[in-house]
Amino acid sequence: MHPSNDPALRSFVPVGPDSHFPIQNLPYGVFRWKGETDQHIGVAIGDYVLDLGCVVEAGLLDDVTGADELFTANDLGPFMAAGKSVWTAARSAISRLLRDNEPTLRDHPTLRQRALVPMTEIEMLLPVTIGDYTDFYSSREHASNVGTMFRGPDKALMPNWLHLPVAYHGRASSVVVSGTDFRRPCGQSNRSGSARPSFGPSQALDFELELGFLIGPGNPLGEPIPVAEAADHVFGCVLVNDWSARDIQQWEYVPLGPFLGKNFCTSISPWVVPMLALEPFRVPGPPQDPEPLPYLRCPDDWGLDIELGAWLRPNGANDSERICRTNAKHLYWNVCQQVAHHTVNGCNLRTGDLLATGTISGSDPGSYGCLLELTWNGTKPLSLGGGQTRTYLEDGDRLTLSGWCQGQGYRVGFGIVTGRVLPAVQKPG
Ligand code: MN
Repeated sequence: MHPSNDPALRSFVPVGPDSHFPIQNLPYGVFRWKGETDQHIGVAIGDYVLDLGCVVEAGLLDDVTGADELFTANDLGPFMAAGKSVWTAARSAISRLLRDNEPTLRDHPTLRQRALVPMTEIEMLLPVTIGDYTDFYSSREHASNVGTMFRGPDKALMPNWLHLPVAYHGRASSVVVSGTDFRRPCGQSNRSGSARPSFGPSQALDFELELGFLIGPGNPLGEPIPVAEAADHVFGCVLVNDWSARDIQQWEYVPLGPFLGKNFCTSISPWVVPMLALEPFRVPGPPQDPEPLPYLRCPDDWGLDIELGAWLRPNGANDSERICRTNAKHLYWNVCQQVAHHTVNGCNLRTGDLLATGTISGSDPGSYGCLLELTWNGTKPLSLGGGQTRTYLEDGDRLTLSGWCQGQGYRVGFGIVTGRVLPAVQKPG
């Protein structure tokens, strides 16, 4: 185990047992002071953010090659591109600096005051410029449920599904950080199967509970990344809500796949949990039968034991209600297989690319990661507290995802990704 993952570590910064940001996590993010424009790189610890720009200025990260440039940059791109040895050195140094028995920062009140920023005083931004966004379809339960709904139980999985991690190219321009509200999309749909489609605000607006992996060093065009080396190219992990308009999607997707039903908004959580922090929570994935082709055979366990949930606050309600409880360990295809498959034809990944898992569902109905499944395409409405029901999202609804790895007495968490549906602006169709 890397020393930074020792469950016995404690920080001098107070961290409650349910906090997502104990010293074993140390996720990276980009923030600005409320009302200001300068972007800073920080690490979350309890209810505070350690401003890494302040820390390097004080000469406290001198063991980390290039730290001056990496942590005074506008976003995490340069640090993510620097690779695993730099990530490990930075994590070791930051972990040491925040320990309860390390006086450097603890006993330096002026520096501590400047470097430890209360989360209430800042706004989080996108952690990196996302150049490309690929969305996989890696949950067998999700793919089987959707296939059952649209093709029947005999043809639930397409013939390719057990042989390759199915994916489509998404759109990076509309990836937004948690807290960004968005307008209900308008588009064509034809739910009644009539001769002509109709145009208007989506009537089947959904969320998708996913994880996203951010690429560190990329690969040159034409040079695939072998599955055994894939982990070295993955910097960290965020929560992803891949908002989806099911009616638009259903009408448009044949034959070339998802387009406007998907690319109007995708929300990610601001804190990037480093893959190093997830090491203690790696578990075997589900058995893969038939055995994948050699280039997809993963030598290591890359299942991730991450508890995940979705909370819905209906328009006008005061409280959120949990509507999904699932776990990332159910995923059939892991991130190393996704990276190997994505690049096997020579396609180049670049620093900051986002690879999302696809909706993460478990086997029981309470574990389904989107409303399409939770309400079985709108046929089984959800009953919510206060007498409200939902098939799909209504204007004013807020949807929040959260997730964490449960350690003994601490949680390595992802925080939240949240967003609210604003009414459509309808132009004549
Ligand atoms: Mn998706």
